[in-house]
Amino acid sequence: MDHATITAVDAEHVWHPYGGFPASTAPRVVADCEGVHLRLADGSRLVDGMSSWWAAVHGYRHPQLDAALADQAGRMSHVMFGGLTHEPAARLASRLVAMTPEPLQKVFFADSGSVSVEVAVKMAIQYWRSRGRPAKNALLTWRGGYHGDTFAPMSVCDPEGGMHAMWRGVLPEQMFVPAPPDARDGEGAQERYLTMLDTRLAAAGDRLAAVIVEPVVQGAGGMRFHSPALVAGLRRLCRAHEVLLICDEIATGFGRTGTLFASDAAGISPDIMCLGKALTGGYLTLAATLTTTEIAETISRGEAGGLAHGPTFMANPLACAVACASLDVLESSDWRRRVPQIGARLAAGLAPLAHVDGVVDVRVLGAIAVVELDRDVDLVAATDAAVASGVWLRPFRKLIYAMPPYIISDEQLDVLVDGIGAAVAASLAATESAGGQRIRRGHRDQESTS
Ligand SMILES: *Cc1c(COP(=O)(O)O)cnc(C)c1O
Repeated sequence: MDHATITAVDAEHVWHPYGGFPASTAPRVVADCEGVHLRLADGSRLVDGMSSWWAAVHGYRHPQLDAALADQAGRMSHVMFGGLTHEPAARLASRLVAMTPEPLQKVFFADSGSVSVEVAVKMAIQYWRSRGRPAKNALLTWRGGYHGDTFAPMSVCDPEGGMHAMWRGVLPEQMFVPAPPDARDGEGAQERYLTMLDTRLAAAGDRLAAVIVEPVVQGAGGMRFHSPALVAGLRRLCRAHEVLLICDEIATGFGRTGTLFASDAAGISPDIMCLGKALTGGYLTLAATLTTTEIAETISRGEAGGLAHGPTFMANPLACAVACASLDVLESSDWRRRVPQIGARLAAGLAPLAHVDGVVDVRVLGAIAVVELDRDVDLVAATDAAVASGVWLRPFRKLIYAMPPYIISDEQLDVLVDGIGAAVAASLAATESAGGQRIRRGHRDQESTS
């Protein structure tokens, strides 16, 4: 198909994420990718600042990942997982058990992050049913979170970002506490927050199956960073009030925040952990929900006799094989040194933006950089400017952010920094000239976090 045909068919027939018809702007056509670059059908080459939404941590067309996929395709692309098993699943399960905290021993393979969260919620609810406490079936989370787009995850996404008003009567109503304090806020703020959590958990513990959070970094709900100490405090409180802790590490897992898992920075083990996104190095959709032997055995003693879930493409061998290869590449790489270096170079390059009128915050953690504006980003102006400077970005709401593949070079990081700067400038100029209502804020703390 030629470029124009692809665009025409796409516009006529194909949904895109959060999209509608007719689409407000045509998506760009990607011809192929290599290393840190996307090559568009018009021949331009872009440094990928998004790692295809956190996933492509080793870049594109990695020889080891390509080889693992081809090798597995030569043996078996898929086979049902009911009554059958295979080496790629066994290898991946043992790898995941070995690299996550010791209590996590049982692995459920799911086909996407959202499904792994559904499974985590089911595990928590079935666990308490099996223990004769079926009233413990609600979830508590903090605001500003994102856990996926199917219904159970949606019910614990930030109520505004997740448009809960639209889904009233359809979504289960969960309990929310305020968004966690920023990592840079003082110890007093952290302590007050934990005291508030303690009170809420004491009051609602009888109805709560689990607390679900993204540890340390809240991703698509607002790209906010909080202190690992807060996660450690939450771990203690959940135990004290007999509520399970689910850590959704779908975005934060596999080194992105500077530790292998974000909960490692807090020195804790959740009762249930969700992994996805970078699990296959961005090659195929695969996720995993890990839990403890005690939870797995308790569920299995219950009325259902096991966990009531079994996707058709569970533990897909191609995805498991490429995930094993991705973990090999990660473990043999110097990501522990490189991730903080990426962060430091992004922080230094982006620091001047903090003084730009219209920018309220610049923050960096691990290999994640965020520029927050005082108004919504003009998506078209920002994206066009980034692409013109050779960079792929996908801003949302007030945020222009990046989490590049770990293989990005210093020179490519400088291109990325320039692209972010161009996107910020273009977005501010476009919203200025459009006469958009400007809210002057001197400091991020004036932002409402209710
Ligand atoms: C992306 C994401 C999900 C959902 O994963 P999908 O594979 O898109 O279904 C869930 N939780 C977090 C924290 C995520 O970043």
